[in-house]
Amino acid sequence: MANPLYDRLFGRHAGSDAPFLIDGAGGETSFAAFLALAARIAGALREAGLRPGDRVAAQVAKSPEALALYAACARSGLVFLPLNTAYTAAELGYFVADSGAACLVCDPAREADLAPVAEGCGARLLTLDGGGGGTLMARAKGQSEDFATVARGEEDLAALLYTSGTTGRSKGAMLTQRNLLSNAATLTELWQFTGRDVLLHALPIFHTHGLFVATNVMLEAGGSMIFLPGFEAGRVIDLMPRATALMGVPTFYTRLLEEDRFTRETAAGMRLFISGSAPLLEETHRQFEARTGHRILERYGMTETNMSTSNPYEGERRAGTVGFPLPGVELKITDPESGEGLPAGEIGMIEVRGPNVFRGYWGMPEKTAAELRADGFFITGDLGRVDADGYVQIVGRGKDLIISGGLNVYPKEVELVLDAVPGVLETAVIGVPHGDLGEAVVAVVVPEPGAAPEEATLMAAANEALARFKHPKRIAFLDALPRNTMGKVQKGALRERFAGLFG
Ligand code: ATP
Ligand code: MG
Repeated sequence: MANPLYDRLFGRHAGSDAPFLIDGAGGETSFAAFLALAARIAGALREAGLRPGDRVAAQVAKSPEALALYAACARSGLVFLPLNTAYTAAELGYFVADSGAACLVCDPAREADLAPVAEGCGARLLTLDGGGGGTLMARAKGQSEDFATVARGEEDLAALLYTSGTTGRSKGAMLTQRNLLSNAATLTELWQFTGRDVLLHALPIFHTHGLFVATNVMLEAGGSMIFLPGFEAGRVIDLMPRATALMGVPTFYTRLLEEDRFTRETAAGMRLFISGSAPLLEETHRQFEARTGHRILERYGMTETNMSTSNPYEGERRAGTVGFPLPGVELKITDPESGEGLPAGEIGMIEVRGPNVFRGYWGMPEKTAAELRADGFFITGDLGRVDADGYVQIVGRGKDLIISGGLNVYPKEVELVLDAVPGVLETAVIGVPHGDLGEAVVAVVVPEPGAAPEEATLMAAANEALARFKHPKRIAFLDALPRNTMGKVQKGALRERFAGLFG
């Protein structure tokens, strides 16, 4: 029976002995073995009483079995709902209740903790550990490697993926088979992935980046993945000579650059380095090119839209930009208040439309209606502009915009000026409540190791480059910016920390 997601990404590899997953020690799982594993898991899920359309929540360590659970859900018409491994039992309670998940798969070590959560929500609890043990796998063992694929259509839900919760409570984005398939096909072609590629996979698989961008593209291309439990610079350097491509968050690249062992030779066999999920500093882009000769390809996307823009594979990869809208994706910049289109070059709200855009937020019809226009454009919440050559530049999130004395201050503009001061590693500019101004501009500065940039020098740089209302009222120094697992700076945490500065 037809099931486009399963057939196109997984089923097509039936019988293939080519390697799909390679572990750090050189062990391989072929496509055929992976599909057999997925079929047995699908059998176990069916036997556990799960029915097409049910949500399967999974908070499990990264492993071939965890990825096979995604394949099993696709084949069974179940909606896959992966969860950040850092979430606590209380946080899981929200996700399981919000999604109405019929099943929660967790690490055996957390079973006792999570049993009340699952019970409270009427969800069945199964376990899976990082080594392929647990009750799910025990049930899968006795299952057949033949599983009758459940019929599904492209408009059916494939996944319920919660956003990272950077700006507030995570929202469940409903992603259809078409959303995933269209993006996989577009990216594979654009980035020229083929069956000869070997992707170094060091991202988590509970987020769109490691799960859909990386995995779906490699399934579409028929290439293999060196599947690592997490990112560890030394390990990635050791394995790089066996790979052709890396997908990473910006911190992967800054951490690689911290290693003297990371040289032009290490990266000589690599075809492509891709960055996303958070802004890549222009400085990192330049240093990486100087060290390796490779220009990192930066792209932009989000849970709700999969990928929307990318720098070109063949043309100029422009630092500080996220490239062009993907083929088939429309992007426009609008006035955040009126929603009207803005003239070329102006900063405004980024809106996107295309087969990549999700169907809506689970259980949040009002929010969906407010952010997903009737004409199909999704209001991303990110502010940006399109430069004269068509490259999209992200200037930050709408929620991070600072309104000081009634005037808009785009944090990115101030950050770029301060980042350029010698001795500055990176900065985060935030708005902090202020009696007169409403919000005051505050710069949080992280010095380079061993450096101590002076406040006066930073202020002088701001004075020279920026209008007065954009000057920081205060500069704070920190050893590091707070980041989540995807390398996103937690500006909300910074705002909280410095909320009392002027009070
Ligand atoms: P929440 O929506 O719950 O606040 P989140 O937006 O961080 O969390 P994700 O969907 O994981 O959750 O992240 C998408 C966001 O990541 C985008 O809206 C954008 O702000 C940011 N982002 C992704 N890629 C880039 C990039 N290349 N440059 C700058 N920002 C990026
Ligand atoms: Mg978001």
